Amino acid sequence: MTAAKKEFVLAVEGLTVSFDGFKAVDDLSLYVDENEIRVIIGPNGAGKTTVLDLICGRTRASAGSIRFRGKELTKLKENQIVHAGVGRKFQNPSIYEELSVFENLEISYPRGRSVFGALMFQRDREVIERVEEIAEMIFLADHLHTSADLLSHGQKQWLEIGMLLIQDPELLMLDEPVAGMSVSERKQTAELLNKIIQNRSVIVIEHDMKFVEDIAHRVTVMHQGRILSEGSMEHVQSDPKVVEVYLGH
Ligand code: ADP
Ligand code: MG
Repeated sequence: MTAAKKEFVLAVEGLTVSFDGFKAVDDLSLYVDENEIRVIIGPNGAGKTTVLDLICGRTRASAGSIRFRGKELTKLKENQIVHAGVGRKFQNPSIYEELSVFENLEISYPRGRSVFGALMFQRDREVIERVEEIAEMIFLADHLHTSADLLSHGQKQWLEIGMLLIQDPELLMLDEPVAGMSVSERKQTAELLNKIIQNRSVIVIEHDMKFVEDIAHRVTVMHQGRILSEGSMEHVQSDPKVVEVYLGH
């Protein structure tokens, strides 16, 4: 094994954040590979969302480092982190309800080369093709011209994932993406994540164990700001420390 020399896409080391003396994340180290889907589980208040907040720059670390493709993220601003290739989906979808599926995706298309603002932006072939490709991927190809407010809760979640995917992030982070979804929507979401993993890493926070089983390459169990257990689904499920936290003493 050449573990010592191995380059992880994401290497989090000694990450700590205190809120008024309370350590929501406490000396946490986490390594994610390319083409990996990592799922973070753990009881409410374990610090899962805070870890994503720290990685995407929404919350500043008190200590530790977050290296993404060799670049230190802890000193960067949120928009610089997005630019570095990190996409983050929050628990509640932030889509434009009054716009169509097409328009929501179009507005999210990276427009680095254009000197015009959003309104002047030309719908050239490249953009249309990319929007259609993403819509297909997120099961909304037949709803391109549907107003987003008419979509189901699950479809809204997919649309927001699509709005991130169109920016082609190398690291995609999703906070409880299947909350409130039907069983079949959960299955489709697992399918979607398994489809988009090439040349990318995905971190998902989730409670639904069937869903976790369908997507996780490795599982990290958090408890009180720290890692309680890590490994395959089978490994963490049979870890006595995990069993104790989930089933009580
Ligand atoms: P999880 O996502 O695992 O349920 P969170 O990361 O949301 O947990 O929260 C971990 C702990 O940190 C909780 O006790 C929460 O109240 C606290 N916390 C999170 N963000 C903040 C903040 N910005 N200010 C103060 N406390 C916070
Ligand atoms: Mg949370």
